[in-house]
Amino acid sequence: MNILLFGAPGSGKGTQAEFLKQRYEIPQVSTGEMFRAEVANGSELGKRVQEIMSSGELVPDDLTIEIVRKRLAEPDTAQGTIFDGFPRTIPQADALDRVMGEMGRHFDRALYLVAPEKDLTERLAGRLTCPTCGRTFHPKFNPPPQPGICPFDGTPLVQRPDDNEETARTRVAVYLRDTMPVIDYYRRQGLVSEVDALRSIPEVRAEIERALEKEAA
Ligand code: AMP
Repeated sequence: MNILLFGAPGSGKGTQAEFLKQRYEIPQVSTGEMFRAEVANGSELGKRVQEIMSSGELVPDDLTIEIVRKRLAEPDTAQGTIFDGFPRTIPQADALDRVMGEMGRHFDRALYLVAPEKDLTERLAGRLTCPTCGRTFHPKFNPPPQPGICPFDGTPLVQRPDDNEETARTRVAVYLRDTMPVIDYYRRQGLVSEVDALRSIPEVRAEIERALEKEAA
């Protein structure tokens, strides 16, 4: 099963991707996570993308397409993939179509987690991330059982550098400008299921499952 997961930053995409990964036993390809790993490694690519990421703008398409192309060549993606945070521009969507076509793969569904713009900045600016496993929490919307501590591995939670209010605003604006047209691109192919992202995490999860089961039926 190949699933595209769309939603503005702060819509709960990463949280639901984590669930999908376990539920369908397929890997999640998150370009944001891959870029953060490059930054943490201090690689050449990491050095090139660090500043762009902290501004909230997008990494150039050629670098992004390359990193995904390499990831899709790894054998664990053969059974399916959850695309989280990619494609974010029309050239990325075109490139992904080509790569998937070459590999004889197709998309089963594009899920779009819909949240009004006014709610996103609050969700992003208060967000806490586990630096070990990458899971995200929020004191109001997804509180960890022990405040400030990841319940999965006990690591103290941190605020991602691009989760401050100013960068969050840029990220949402970039999303509306560059990624909304990508959702329309898949909508025209009849692939998009919309899910109300403001409901509780289990409710969103259940709605996603329903959308995917309809697809499988
Ligand atoms: P995310 O974790 O998906 O919110 O991504 C964090 C940051 O990584 C974004 O604000 C961008 O700077 C960069 N990034 C992640 N995915 C992409 C993509 N598909 N295209 C360009 N830049 C990306």
